[in-house]
Amino acid sequence: MRAKLVAGNWKMSGSLASNQELLAALVPALAPLARASYAVCVPFPYLAQAQHALRGSNVALGAQDVCQFDGGAYTGGVSAAMLADFGCRYVIVGHSERRNVFGETDDVVALKFAQATQHRLTPILCVGETLAERESGVTEAVVARQLDAVVKRSGLPALAQCVIAYEPVWAIGTGKTATPQQAQEVHAHIRARVAASDRRLADELAILYGGSVKAANAAQLFAMPDVDGGLIGGASLAADQFIAICRAAQAARETVRA
Ligand code: PEP
Repeated sequence: MRAKLVAGNWKMSGSLASNQELLAALVPALAPLARASYAVCVPFPYLAQAQHALRGSNVALGAQDVCQFDGGAYTGGVSAAMLADFGCRYVIVGHSERRNVFGETDDVVALKFAQATQHRLTPILCVGETLAERESGVTEAVVARQLDAVVKRSGLPALAQCVIAYEPVWAIGTGKTATPQQAQEVHAHIRARVAASDRRLADELAILYGGSVKAANAAQLFAMPDVDGGLIGGASLAADQFIAICRAAQAARETVRA
């Protein structure tokens, strides 16, 4: 049985004042929504602020990136141990903006994933194809390659410690959402790929959809049998939108697999 998870990715947005307002709205609104799980992944400088604001709530704290190295002379790096020190439960790894803007390769993403799990953080591993890749029919191959890089480094059982986020690059921040059927197809493919080696692990694997999820389309996406919640960018910055998406997760059925 997989409960839904909704994680906000604030990206490089926020300020002390706006974060305070947003978190103060989220905490009481999400408190009664006990059937799903919630998280916000905030920029590094605001981890302490969010840790404090979320204390005692049912909203977990996450970061958006982690250094691939353990510690030492890596100027600008933020280690997994540091994230754990601030009470992070989740960390996004391999977001397409990290891959495409900052040049992170599959191997670097795999190292980051390994750092996260070694420090008992739950990586939210992002995978997804560009528009050109979708149009040339290689979506499944791209997602498989991104997943396999992590499995090669950390081993298949490490997937039990992670959440996958399928995020088609063409849907991120564009307002163009994948249809529920398009999302379901890729989610089912990811699950089947894991199931080919370990059926039980696949059944328990949480696979989120990300890409222009809003209050208006969340329920349809979350109704898909292999969509276990969402990674939410833009809409996680507006309290009313994010709360409505979390309510859609709470209202969606847990997925029971035969
Ligand atoms: C994201 O940043 O992971 C994302 C899905 O963004 P958006 O919801 O804005 O498309």
